[in-house]
Amino acid sequence: MNKPQYAFFEGKIVPIEEARVDVRTNALQYGTGIFEGIRCYWNEKTKTGYVFRMEDHYKRFIANSRIMMIKIKYSLDELCNITLELLKKEKYTEDCYIRPFAYNSNLDIGPKLIGDDQELSIYIIPLGKYIEIDKPVSVCISSWDRIPDNSIPPRAKITGSYVNAALQKSDALLNGYDEALTLTTDGRHVSEGSAMNFFMVKNGILITPPSTDDILEGITRDTVIKIAKEIEDIETIERSIDRTELYTADELFFTGTGAQVSPIGFVDKRTIGTGEIGPITKRLQELYFKVVKNEIPQYSKWCTEV
Ligand code: PMP
Repeated sequence: MNKPQYAFFEGKIVPIEEARVDVRTNALQYGTGIFEGIRCYWNEKTKTGYVFRMEDHYKRFIANSRIMMIKIKYSLDELCNITLELLKKEKYTEDCYIRPFAYNSNLDIGPKLIGDDQELSIYIIPLGKYIEIDKPVSVCISSWDRIPDNSIPPRAKITGSYVNAALQKSDALLNGYDEALTLTTDGRHVSEGSAMNFFMVKNGILITPPSTDDILEGITRDTVIKIAKEIEDIETIERSIDRTELYTADELFFTGTGAQVSPIGFVDKRTIGTGEIGPITKRLQELYFKVVKNEIPQYSKWCTEV
């Protein structure tokens, strides 16, 4: 795996070794930062990298900066241009993952969001699979609830909130599962995976939790809803989902920039469908990989050439 050579840090592109923060940094001590995860897909046929839905990721980043009162000193266009400049310098010829991070760089003691000390960093790493996509994963319902919007808003992609995800994912792995599904604290409905959204297939339609069930409003989730409708004429219903609905679903799958489209074969040791990747999941996964590699002209608008 190639190591990144560069990072955008404190206003300029520097060698990655120079992208270092002071140990007193507020975001390091208190988790007061927001981040994004964007993929750039390498298309071996055209020998070109395509950044997937870059503007949409940065629009979410800018929107989230309002929740956390972090001022991002760069416009949408500037963020996209910095990212493309970094990608050109790294010269990866494989799939990679872009990590923008806007954070409270104040060095004083005390968790607060007030003040003008804010910085932005961006780095890019090569990244293949984040979780299994070729065979179904086994998940448990986490004993750790999803954090509610009025505690630490999951929709804001706040660094500190990923302590919640780390507890969920670690317990799942330590107990022999691949991933966790989380429940909301208030409604006890299924929310999402530790760092991915999820879909249920029942009687030929897709069902996914609404944005008010403490999820991150995923860009992959939106992509899958759109390609399911526009290419396959499959409807998606956004509604709350009970735990036991999972056990009787025809198919289940995760979506996310990292997770991509990942089939779920087992929940709490119950087999979902046949335990194999389901036909709708398989079809959506195939379409997803064509879309992100700019192989379906209808969705070229989502793919920015490096
Ligand atoms: N939920 C959480 C908590 C996540 O961290 C992610 C990954 N960004 C997702 C869902 C999926 O979002 P997206 O499709 O935008 O990557």
